[in-house]
Amino acid sequence: MSAKADIALIGLAVMGQNLILNMNDNGFVVCAYNRTVEKVNQFLKNEAKGTKVIGATSLQDMVNKLKLPRKIMLLVKAGSAVDDFIQQLVPLLSPGDVIIDGGNSEYQDTARRCDELRAKKILYVGSGVSGGEEGARHGPSLMPGGHPEAWPLIQPIFQSICAKADKEPCCEWVGEGGAGHFVKMVHNGIEYGDMQLICEAYQIMKALDLSQAEMATEFEKWNSEELDSFLIEITRDILNYQDKKGFLLERIRDTAGQKGTGKWTAIAALQYGVPVTLIGEAVFSRCLSALKDERVAASKQFSGPGVSAKVADLPNFLNHIKHALYCSKIVSYAQGFMLMREAAKENNWNLNYGGIALMWRGGCIIRRVFLGNIKDAYTRNPQLSNLLLDDFFKKAIEVGQNSWRQVVANAFLWGIPVPALSTALSFYDGYRTEKLPANLLQAQRDYFGAHTYELLGAEGKFVHTNWTGTG
Ligand code: NAP
Repeated sequence: MSAKADIALIGLAVMGQNLILNMNDNGFVVCAYNRTVEKVNQFLKNEAKGTKVIGATSLQDMVNKLKLPRKIMLLVKAGSAVDDFIQQLVPLLSPGDVIIDGGNSEYQDTARRCDELRAKKILYVGSGVSGGEEGARHGPSLMPGGHPEAWPLIQPIFQSICAKADKEPCCEWVGEGGAGHFVKMVHNGIEYGDMQLICEAYQIMKALDLSQAEMATEFEKWNSEELDSFLIEITRDILNYQDKKGFLLERIRDTAGQKGTGKWTAIAALQYGVPVTLIGEAVFSRCLSALKDERVAASKQFSGPGVSAKVADLPNFLNHIKHALYCSKIVSYAQGFMLMREAAKENNWNLNYGGIALMWRGGCIIRRVFLGNIKDAYTRNPQLSNLLLDDFFKKAIEVGQNSWRQVVANAFLWGIPVPALSTALSFYDGYRTEKLPANLLQAQRDYFGAHTYELLGAEGKFVHTNWTGTG
């Protein structure tokens, strides 16, 4: 039988199945394979019935059915499953064939696999795939990185199946090694931050006694303004959702789980020394939410300020919340891009920041109008060192900062936790402060550990003082 498939896809869970059907819709012949082989037949008989998708009964069978150079995409559980498949595939492949990992792999794993496969003359790509099941089926945001020679081979498929924003594909080559998975990881971290910010806005609205319908109306309004985004839109729908017992949201347990990409972003931020404070707080907020039993017990032990949330002009305060959310999001994206810039420097990645914003504009969970504003900022100045310095974002913060301060200050006075909104404001204030109290910190370190300090005007020269002696 002559080889006829354009690409093979291994992993017939939700992401793999949907991506195969998407590739099929775009005119590509896909060969489907899965560790549990019965799932191949089930898929061909059901979801893929009437399509051009073909199946394979073994990896050898799959390899035989592929056009050269072969392109094989893995959409399996991240971790050892990826290494296992690579190990089994390599002896069956020829130099110049391409393996693509579309799962949520750690970027260091992808970098290691790139090095290992380079030695074996197999091309390797680690690609972020965002947008969940729906995105995979109708157009995800794709963030491929790895061996650059693989890009021209997979580009026609990737740029056909991905989401489009203003007719431009939400998929571009990201960079070498683990760059694609790093950018996807930061994307997920930003998603954690965006979700936490919305949850804090919801908590304040609840404290102000807004009904769910009133909150939904407010989110609906925001979605037609600068906050226009997928997450604001789905929050409106969630607030409006009722079943036979009424609004569902209030009956959902207030504990959030996590799969790890937000935590990896926070770890990377600590490793690269970049203050990505908002994503860190978003991860810790999920951890705090998980301590439900302890929180229930503590709520009976500890008192708060004893005042209930009240404002004289509710529509005006709701407008303050919108600005607080918007300013905090600007800080969160600025921090995410700071992290990518630092990682790019250390790993010699030539990241195209405007291109990354464009990739995130459509298809993915954080898709929003304002990613177009980020793209414009990097078009105006590709060397922009921090998003906050771009005139568009500088102006947005100027307009919104009074509202932001009102919301954070009132939330503190009312005893409502706002870790993400407040850390964003503290970052902004820290970033714009010429003289921070780290002079005292240097002195303290020198006092107890003889770590030395630098004097103003003599930077680079370190001196020590015997702080208990005479000056
Ligand atoms: P999943 O539940 O993460 O993984 C299931 C697939 O992995 C099945 O094909 C399973 O094969 C295979 N698998 C699991 N352990 C294996 C092992 N030890 N050896 C070989 N194969 C193994 O599937 P998913 O939700 O579709 O996600 C696929 C990838 O995309 C993951 O990396 C995920 O993190 C990433 N992702 C998911 C989403 C999402 O919304 N779900 C979004 C973006 C990215 P069997 O059928 O034989 O068990």
